[in-house]
Amino acid sequence: MKEEVSYESIKEAFTEYIKKHKHRRTPERYAILERIYSYEGHFNADILYNAMKSEYRVSLATIYNTLELLTECKLIIKHQIGGQFAQYEKTFGNNTHHHLICTNCGKVKEFTDKQLRLAIQNRKFAHFQMSHYSLYLYGLCQNCRIALKR
Ligand SMILES: [Zn+2]
Ligand SMILES: [Zn+2]
Repeated sequence: MKEEVSYESIKEAFTEYIKKHKHRRTPERYAILERIYSYEGHFNADILYNAMKSEYRVSLATIYNTLELLTECKLIIKHQIGGQFAQYEKTFGNNTHHHLICTNCGKVKEFTDKQLRLAIQNRKFAHFQMSHYSLYLYGLCQNCRIALKR
């Protein structure tokens, strides 16, 4: 399930989606896509905005609506965790990983596990072809565990 997808084909997929839904093809949107695909791990709109503003002038509103578009065309995954701001990550070029989510502060930690990965990859489903998956494990992060003990 390791997805070898070139950045060019990702850009093409985005262009097709934009055309099909008659959105505007602005350079800002492509700059945002490119920034996202050079980023490892999770981010939210603010993190992306701060990372971009030094090199590219783009408004927070543009970031928000581009994130929506990219989520719709499945080039990024949106994680809505508890009452926290939505977090995102790229769909392709990511190693399959799982998430440990703190139910108190919303912090997300990623981990990989070969055994788990193989178990899921080898699982066959009737009438269903799996493309990708994501696991969420809920609990308390160390900081919150210490803080809540007081
Ligand atoms: Zn926490
Ligand atoms: Zn993740």
